[in-house]
Amino acid sequence: MSSEGCSVLITLEFFKGFAKDKMCGKCLPCMLGTTRIIDVLERITKSEGEERDMVVLEKTSSNIIDTARCKLGKDAANFLQDSLTSSRDEYEEHIKDGHCSHNSCELLINYWIDPEKCVMCDACKKVCPEDAIVGEKLVPYLSDNNPYYVRDKKCTKCGQCLTVCEVGAIEIV
Ligand code: SF4
Ligand code: SF4
Ligand code: SF4
Repeated sequence: MSSEGCSVLITLEFFKGFAKDKMCGKCLPCMLGTTRIIDVLERITKSEGEERDMVVLEKTSSNIIDTARCKLGKDAANFLQDSLTSSRDEYEEHIKDGHCSHNSCELLINYWIDPEKCVMCDACKKVCPEDAIVGEKLVPYLSDNNPYYVRDKKCTKCGQCLTVCEVGAIEIV
């Protein structure tokens, strides 16, 4: 298991690749288990994980190991079990706190503008393709300029605002 990046996301990508290129569907537990594993991992990366998901992943992978006809299925299930063992904290962090410490799961991250750093230049608002940034360009003689912030529901996490902010006021949280 790679020590870099989000383990949940790495395992999800691994299973998507397995389902697409290797899983032949000849044995039901492997076929159904793979679909279920992908479904559960996808939910976890979207901050929709449930406490019982760890048990579901463990039981489903054990079932594949016990019943798979070929090494490909067993290897895939073992990959998941290794990940659950070595990165248990990461899975639990996603499920319980809805947090990805690697900032890898796009749906778990948000863009945030630090009001202490923002100089209200308007560059991010101009570049945002989703009209997700609210705020008013600084007018020096006015004291009540509206500060800049990101509307999470509109933000698609494209990252364009990050590239134009010259004072590093935009953070991924
Ligand atoms: S265990 Fe092997 S033979 Fe069975 S469905 Fe999976 S890939 Fe196919
Ligand atoms: S990440 Fe993209 S969509 Fe989100 S606020 Fe920045 S520019 Fe707009
Ligand atoms: S680009 Fe940076 S400094 Fe300018 S308004 Fe946006 S967050 Fe503030």
